[in-house]
Amino acid sequence: MPDHDQGAPRSEPSPESPRRGPWELEVAPPPEQWDDWVELDASAWPERRERHLQCIPTICFNCESACGLLACVDKSDGSLVRFEGNPVHPGSRGRTCAKGPATLNQIRDPERILYPLKRTGPRGSGQFERTTWQEALQDIGARIRAAFDAGRHDGVMYHVGRPGDDHFVNRMLQAWGTDGHNSHTNVCSASARLGYALWMGADRPSPSYDGTRFMLLLSSHLETGHYFNPHAQRIMDAKQAGARLAVVDTRLSNTASHADLWISPWPGSEAALLLGVAHELLRRGDWNRDFVRRWVNWQETLAVCEPGGKGDFERFAAWLQAQYAEYTPAFVATECRIPADTGTRLADEIAAAGTRFTSHLWRNTASGNLGGWQVARALFLLHVLSGSVGTPGGLNPNVWDKFVPKPSLDPPATGRWNELIWPRQYPLSHYEMSFLLPHLLREQDRKLEVYFTRVYNPVWTNPDGCSWIEMLEDEARVGCHVALTPTWSETAQWADYVLPTGHASERHDLMSQETHAGTWIGFRQPVERERRRRNGETVSTTLGTNPGEVWEEAEFWIALTREIDPDGSRGIMRYFESKTHPGQPVTLDEYYADIFDHAVPGLPAAAAAHGLSALEYMRRFGAFAVPYAGQERYEKIVAGAGATAAAASSAPTPVSGVEQEDGTRRTGFKTPSGKLELYSPTLSAWGFAEHALPAYVQSHVHWRNLGDGEMTLLPTFRLPTLVHTRTGNAKWLQEISHTNPLWVNPRDAERLGLVNGELARVKTRIGYFVPRVWVTEGIHPGVVACSHHVGRWRMHRDIGGAKQSTALVSIERQDGKFLLRQKQGVGPFSSSDPDTSRIWWQEAGVNQNLTFPVQPDPVSGMHCWHQKVRVEPAGPDDRFGDISVDTHASRAVFHEWLALARPAPGPEGLRRPLWLNRPLRPKPEAYRL
Ligand code: SF4
Repeated sequence: MPDHDQGAPRSEPSPESPRRGPWELEVAPPPEQWDDWVELDASAWPERRERHLQCIPTICFNCESACGLLACVDKSDGSLVRFEGNPVHPGSRGRTCAKGPATLNQIRDPERILYPLKRTGPRGSGQFERTTWQEALQDIGARIRAAFDAGRHDGVMYHVGRPGDDHFVNRMLQAWGTDGHNSHTNVCSASARLGYALWMGADRPSPSYDGTRFMLLLSSHLETGHYFNPHAQRIMDAKQAGARLAVVDTRLSNTASHADLWISPWPGSEAALLLGVAHELLRRGDWNRDFVRRWVNWQETLAVCEPGGKGDFERFAAWLQAQYAEYTPAFVATECRIPADTGTRLADEIAAAGTRFTSHLWRNTASGNLGGWQVARALFLLHVLSGSVGTPGGLNPNVWDKFVPKPSLDPPATGRWNELIWPRQYPLSHYEMSFLLPHLLREQDRKLEVYFTRVYNPVWTNPDGCSWIEMLEDEARVGCHVALTPTWSETAQWADYVLPTGHASERHDLMSQETHAGTWIGFRQPVERERRRRNGETVSTTLGTNPGEVWEEAEFWIALTREIDPDGSRGIMRYFESKTHPGQPVTLDEYYADIFDHAVPGLPAAAAAHGLSALEYMRRFGAFAVPYAGQERYEKIVAGAGATAAAASSAPTPVSGVEQEDGTRRTGFKTPSGKLELYSPTLSAWGFAEHALPAYVQSHVHWRNLGDGEMTLLPTFRLPTLVHTRTGNAKWLQEISHTNPLWVNPRDAERLGLVNGELARVKTRIGYFVPRVWVTEGIHPGVVACSHHVGRWRMHRDIGGAKQSTALVSIERQDGKFLLRQKQGVGPFSSSDPDTSRIWWQEAGVNQNLTFPVQPDPVSGMHCWHQKVRVEPAGPDDRFGDISVDTHASRAVFHEWLALARPAPGPEGLRRPLWLNRPLRPKPEAYRL
């Protein structure tokens, strides 16, 4: 068995009979039997017919969690039978959610794109013809080469939705010399990231559920959320071990239904609740004074907040208590509209748990509200007060629990700064201001020569999708749009090239995620290619082993890089050149062997123990538990004590250790002070002095900020069985989830005259949408909610989206006004899969995001998803799924929010503080305006 921590299956099988019967499905095939796993063929029942399977590990690609999958292949004919969990994957430990096994649907989807396509009519006309990879490579490569040779590196942009890999494309863009990496982060997690980064220099929490005593979730991790399956199983393990769970969610999520305490505050008031808990802990004296004294920048805080005072820790303690004294139970109850004893009850739980208190905040309130990043600041304050930072059962910085190995030859950072992605108006954004692209292109009067959307569907996913349509169809703004995608999407309808790339079992990627206090890597690999290799074939490319001409991105990018720099004279191709065959492109075997041999400690030795090379080990087992460096790392004594702190603005890791009272110099945190920053000098120096301490910002949708008749719409929640775009092609998942009704509290339904199952019109600042009403006690009065995971549509009968999940729509347009109307819902159709003739559901939901204006938070840059809306019964002309949008109005709202921004330059003429992270980091000189 390979080395792994916590990787054992739930039930320990005996070596002789790992699965005592075919009904013991929770017992995974052990690796020793992966070459010939014998089971009964369920489809032959009642005959007892044996089936011999070959099990090949890969990694799920349906969300970011990177769970391990085992592809089970029938040895008699090489057909893929199913996907199940890989029991030796340290993150997912043999388990998956519904979306993992449904990968099989995506592979076999009768409507999937099998060949490269090229546009033949006007953009958006739905006219495409089959082309070849070679033609696409030559055309796209020539355009990029011309842009680079003209010094227009900013004209090439790679915009990714689901990366699925930790390093490959970032390294490639670095080799290309572009600052062209764009992401979806600002419609997802920017706000929480900023809150955490300002405290500890790491932009995500990594809960240590093992050994915890109390879990506080501002998320829905038992059903969705970041690292959903790996976290859900650990949350349940912790509950079974006696830990208690509280969930803060305005909506009664499935997660909340499993909680010991469900708290349903008004959206955006959560920071008030959390600071109420801090107030209670401070008032009682129930806080970890020693941890705060050693690891919080309290001297710096006091020097600024109480200049001229005594300046000792006792004075700081008194100041801190006074600082949060206003967050009384009565204040919290009024702001949040929750029972007055809520904060006290949470304080009891946290005080009892001490350093074994953990939490998670993902999407939820942070991504919905103006100032949502302060919710993360307030939540982390509770960890600081309880000393539960980096402790067993506490909360780790994510960077401890993720391991990203890199090839031995790394390209230098670019000296360029792309203002289309990093506009100066948002110097602290986390990260790329991706959802503003249509507005920024217009405002900066810029053009993209080549725009890649890669597993990214902004027309449907982003707010203000009609502005994206206007941008994509304008060839003066977007010269060539290349959609790299395994499936059709709303956005791909406006592509020049639609290039089919692989699903989870059709590609190589290397991933690691912070699923627990441990580190691991997972290797996604093309299953059929690996099957052929194991059976003795020589396979040099994934193209040809996947269905049709579905390729994989890594090989596509290498080939494209060669088109851009065919003779190596531009200095790019050397990063993708074979060492063993100079002048030839590197093969993926060589690329990954380099990483596994040189950059993953312990892997070569573990492989050798099995008589394998490191690459063979990863192909064999699919994952490896990298030796863990442990928790409480900030306490580690720094080698060469006496090192001095560098200037905060001149280095990404500004401090070499933190001096302690005992004279030792310890590792500390990656902040300018090396300590946890209660007072943020960064916020202060960059124009946000009033926000420099953890505080409560009243959201744009707080009840005090609503006009007469307005309600708050909560549109951010996922459904457990879907991801944004690709699960539209998974029939099992679509059968389970295909509607997104509007959640309405019975009191509101009665007040507004709304009837369960009937239509409503929901008006936003820029338009309206028409969903069905679901009357439920599971939502706070005054608030309505609608999931963003449903509501798919296509413009053309046979392309643009899967018929099982999309409605066929017409779009009427006049001077920026759009009316999308559903012409046909979902229904049975004939295809190579007989199941498509059995489709019984009829509606495809409503794409509410189209009706939202962009609302960038002036500090984090996060799109503030929650909307002020007016809800009324649908009118006689309204039809289910109608969407009306005015893009002139969306521009006006963009300018309103833009006016809140406080642009760079900051101190020393910088565009952004040097110490804050950027995914693709340019040279320090690029930071200067
Ligand atoms: S949580 Fe589900 S969808 Fe996400 S990687 Fe794991 S199995 Fe796949």
